[in-house]
Amino acid sequence: MKIELRDAAERIQAANNIVVAAHINPDGDAVGSSLALLLILRAMGKNARALLDDDIPPNFTILPHINDIEHPVELSETEIQADLLVVLDTQPDRIGSVSKMVKAPILNIDHHITNEGKNVSWLFLNANAAATCEIIFDLIEFLPVALNEDIAHCLYAGIATDTGFFNYANTRPSTLRAAAVLIEAGVKPNVIAEEMERKSLADFKGLCEALKTMEFFYEGKVAGLFINEAVAHLVDSTEGFIDQIRVIDGVEIAFVLTCRSEDIYRVSMRSRTVDVSKIARNLGGGGHIRAAGCTLRKPFDEAKECLLKAIGEAVKDID
Ligand code: 5GP
Ligand code: MN
Repeated sequence: MKIELRDAAERIQAANNIVVAAHINPDGDAVGSSLALLLILRAMGKNARALLDDDIPPNFTILPHINDIEHPVELSETEIQADLLVVLDTQPDRIGSVSKMVKAPILNIDHHITNEGKNVSWLFLNANAAATCEIIFDLIEFLPVALNEDIAHCLYAGIATDTGFFNYANTRPSTLRAAAVLIEAGVKPNVIAEEMERKSLADFKGLCEALKTMEFFYEGKVAGLFINEAVAHLVDSTEGFIDQIRVIDGVEIAFVLTCRSEDIYRVSMRSRTVDVSKIARNLGGGGHIRAAGCTLRKPFDEAKECLLKAIGEAVKDID
């Protein structure tokens, strides 16, 4: 059932044992929103835990209380009792094993246009919000809790990363107003930016290898990188690789095809105008109009062909 933000706040107020989860392969918004909500719930006196079924990229280790995020693989319990599971920044089919561990009504808070609200009790969706962190910022208004410096850091990290540091089309006046309030609460934008943009040497070398694979398709309207298993093992994260090629003159869609394991490939897409969330959704994934992704379970040649066919359809009418 779709609900308003005020109702989402009521659902949270009514629960005592709350688990917070976000998507696998967590980004700044997933980590920032989970951690911010965890701190908010604790400040309200709730018994709250945050569970992420994946490693947290090292860039986010500066966030306050980051070690309070728990990982299912490290837990001895197989089932966690809760009266509410809050799923952030994705629909619940992308939270990995957390969905098996926590059987509770789901409150889903998200900003992905492709979220259809399947298998949730309540969905608050604002596809205009730049980040789930922007929604959590708004949610504080409806809760008996005050913004503090720790919460502000987590929210700012999510908003800054999901907007490409206020560069992308999802940056709205309210996004910048929220950022201003977060800075007033003590966030130092340069410190967050430095940490979020930091790359390990291994990742940088991986980027150099990946760039050697660059290919253009459809008269240069599409550019792609291909990360094979060896390079994928070399790096901690491929975050940001796509940004190097999406800026090339004439490129409408940029993509990165990354080998996860044999016959499993992750697709990341970015576009200037084309709706890549539709392409991703047709291939079993989702995302936003200008940033989306999916997983293809096929051998490399088939994955590449299938992706290029879908992308070709989307760019064929663009001059
Ligand atoms: P990225 O390319 O950074 O991995 O993802 C771009 C956007 O698409 C993010 O907002 C991410 O949450 C979403 N996304 C990526 N992969 C998937 C997927 O497999 N399913 C869904 N529903 N969304 C995805
Ligand atoms: Mn997000």
